[in-house]
Amino acid sequence: VMDAALPGNMKMESETKISLHPNYATTPYTLSEKEKIILEALQLQKVLTVGDIGQLLDQKTILPLIKSLYEKGCIVLREEVAESYKAKKEIFVKPAFDTEHKSTWQNLFEILEKAPKQSDILLAFKKLYKNEPILKRKLLKTANASSAALDGLVEKQILEVFEAEVDRVLIEDGKGWDYTLNAEQEKAIVSVKDLYKDRDVVLLHGVTGSGKTHVFMHMMDETISQGKQALYLVPEIALTAQLIQRLRAKYGKDIGIYHSKFNADERVEIWSKVLHKEYKIVLGVRSALFLPFAELGLLIIDEEHEHTFKQFEPAPRYHARDAGIFLMNLHGGKTLLGTATPSFDSYFNAQRNKYGLVKMHERFGNIQMPEIVLADLQQEHRKKSMKSHFSSVLYLEMQRVLAEGGQVILFQNRRGYAPLLECTSCGWTPTCQNCDISLTYHQSTHDIICHYCGYKEPSPKKCKACGNFTLKMLGYGTEKIEDELKIFFPEYKSLRMDQDTTRGKLAYSKIINAFEDGEAHILVGTQMVTKGLDFENVRLVGILNADQMLRYPDFRAVERSYQLMSQVSGRAGRRDIRGKVVIQTFNVNHPLFEYLLEHNYEGFYVNEIQERLDFKYPPFYKLVKISIRDEDQEKVKTAAHALADRLRDIYGPRVLGPEFPPVARIRGRYTMHIMLKFERRNMNMPEAKLVLQKEVENFKTSKEYKGVRIILDVDPY
Ligand SMILES: [Zn+2]
Ligand SMILES: [Zn+2]
Repeated sequence: VMDAALPGNMKMESETKISLHPNYATTPYTLSEKEKIILEALQLQKVLTVGDIGQLLDQKTILPLIKSLYEKGCIVLREEVAESYKAKKEIFVKPAFDTEHKSTWQNLFEILEKAPKQSDILLAFKKLYKNEPILKRKLLKTANASSAALDGLVEKQILEVFEAEVDRVLIEDGKGWDYTLNAEQEKAIVSVKDLYKDRDVVLLHGVTGSGKTHVFMHMMDETISQGKQALYLVPEIALTAQLIQRLRAKYGKDIGIYHSKFNADERVEIWSKVLHKEYKIVLGVRSALFLPFAELGLLIIDEEHEHTFKQFEPAPRYHARDAGIFLMNLHGGKTLLGTATPSFDSYFNAQRNKYGLVKMHERFGNIQMPEIVLADLQQEHRKKSMKSHFSSVLYLEMQRVLAEGGQVILFQNRRGYAPLLECTSCGWTPTCQNCDISLTYHQSTHDIICHYCGYKEPSPKKCKACGNFTLKMLGYGTEKIEDELKIFFPEYKSLRMDQDTTRGKLAYSKIINAFEDGEAHILVGTQMVTKGLDFENVRLVGILNADQMLRYPDFRAVERSYQLMSQVSGRAGRRDIRGKVVIQTFNVNHPLFEYLLEHNYEGFYVNEIQERLDFKYPPFYKLVKISIRDEDQEKVKTAAHALADRLRDIYGPRVLGPEFPPVARIRGRYTMHIMLKFERRNMNMPEAKLVLQKEVENFKTSKEYKGVRIILDVDPY
C-alpha cells in the first residue's frame, strides 16, 4: 500500500510540513504509541515539520512513522506537489498557411509533386486537421512517413512543429456509447436513492448485462453536480480497458485513472489533481482509497465479490470493501456495491437489512440469459467420445457456432502447457527447489516454471530419477488448449489471454481489440476472460474444467466457482441471438450446477449459506488465520504448536490446527496455519482481536522463537 499510496518522488525533508488529514477523526488501524503522540501534537499545532516531529519524539528515523500514518489516512503531507514533477511533453504539428482556401491546398500539392513523401504527409494532415494541432507521431503514422520528410515540409514553411504539455495519461478514443437509462435502470436509481435515506451502503445485484455501469454513471453525475467527488473502484485496471474508454469519452478531463503500475511522476500528478478537486471522479484499484480526496460523496465498488479487493502483502491486510465503507463514514458519503454474483458477506448484510438491496433482472435490450448445458466427462470418457480435452458436446457446439460466423471463448483457469510432467516408469515428477509444488511445462519457452516463485529450468528430456525417456505430460493449461485448437479447428484463428501473453503495457488491449475486430474466432484464457468484457459476437463459452475450481481447498471454493462460471457465462450472447455455455465436469450431480443452470443465485445462496452455518464459517463466524513462517521446518512446527497451545488456553475449541497448508513450502520458507473461529453473535470482536494481537506479540518476544515470522490475518481470503 505504502508504495502504491505515497507518491514516490515526494522527498521528505526536515522542512516538509505535515498536518492532519482533513477528514481524520479516527482510523480502523491500530496506532502505535508514537503515532498517537504525533496525532495529538498535530491536533494542537495544526502544522508540524518533519524536523519538529523528530525533536518531539527525540529520535532521528521518523520516516517509517510518517509513512505509516500517511498510509492509514491520518495525515497529509503539505508540499508543493505541482512543482515536484515535470509534465510530459509531446510534439505537435500545425499549419503555417491559411487552411481555409482550397486553392492554397491545391498550390501546395503542386509544389510537392516531386516530393511524394512530403505530399503524403500533407495529405494525411489535411485528413486529420480539425483546426487543432495534430500529434506529430499520429501524423507520421497515418502518412506512414518519416520524421525527415516532415522536416522538409517545415523547411518549406508549410507546416510548423512545436512542443507542448499533454495530459500524461493516454486518452483513448471512447467509442460512441449510449447511456440513456431503460425503465429498470431508472427504477434502480430511484430505489438506491430511497435506501440512502436511512442506509449508507446499498448492494446493487444486477445480472450480467443489466447495465450497472449506467446506474453508476448517473449516481456519479449527481454526486459531482453537488460539488463532491466520486471514487469508482475496480478489481484490476488492466481488465477495464473498455470501461475506461467509455468513462473518458463522457467525463474527459474530470476523470483520473489510478493504478499501481504508474511511475512516481504519474502518481504525483494524480495525487495533486485529486487533492485540488481537478479530478471529480477517480477510477482506481483498491489503493486509490488512500488518495487525498477533498470531499468524497460516493464510493462505487464494482465487482464487489472479487477477492483482489483484499490486500495480502504487505500489511496492512485490509479489504477494500470494509476499509472503503469505513472511509465513507468519515466523509459522510455513501457506498454503492455492484455485482452480478454478490459475495456472501455482502448478501448476508443485505439480507439482514444492514445494507440496502436493489436488484436488476433484465439484460440490456432484453437479451436472454445464456443457455447453460453440462458435458458429462465421465460418460464421454466411457464412450470414448472425447477429442483430447474437448467433449463431443463442446466440440460440436464450437463447430456449429464457428461455421455460423460466431466467436467462441474458452475458459481454462490454468496457464502454461501442462501442469505436471510425470515419469511413467518410476513416477518421478520435477518439483520446484524452493516450493513444495510441481513445475508447469511452458511450451513457448520449453521451460518448466514454478507458478509460486517464478523459478524455472529447461524442461528435462529424460527422467532425472531413472534416466528413462518416459516423461509424460498430465493435465492441461491454456497454452495446450491453444495448441490443440490448431489441430481440431485448423481453419479458425485463436488468441490466448493469460498472464504470459499480457505482460507488456498494451498487450492486453491489443488482444481485446483484435478479438473485437474479428481477427480471431476463438479466445482462450484464464480468469482474465471472465471479467468486464463486452464482445458483440461471442455466442459460445466453453468452461473446460469446472472440477478444478470446485476442488480448490478453501471454504469459499464453491462460492467462487459459482461466481466465476456465472461471470464467464455472461460473456455469451448479445442482441438477437441467445448465447450458449458448455461446462465440462466429471461431477454433473454437484448441487451448484442445479442453480447455475437456472441462473438462480438466491437459491444457491440459501443452500450454501446453511453449509456455512453448519461448518462454522463466515459470515456467521469470524475467521482469523495465523501464519507461522520460517526456513527451518522444525522451528515452524514447534513454534506453531506452542502458540496454538497457548491460544487454546484462552479460546478453547475455537482454535484449530496448526496444520501445513497444501503448499507448505514457498520460496524456501515453511508455513503452518492456525485458524480461529469466533462466533459473531456472542463475541466482542474488536476486543477479542486486541487480546489476540497482544498474545501474538508476547509470543514473538520469546527468545526460543526469535526470527519466526507470525502473520495475523482477519477475514482471510
Ligand atoms: Zn517455487
Ligand atoms: Zn523415471
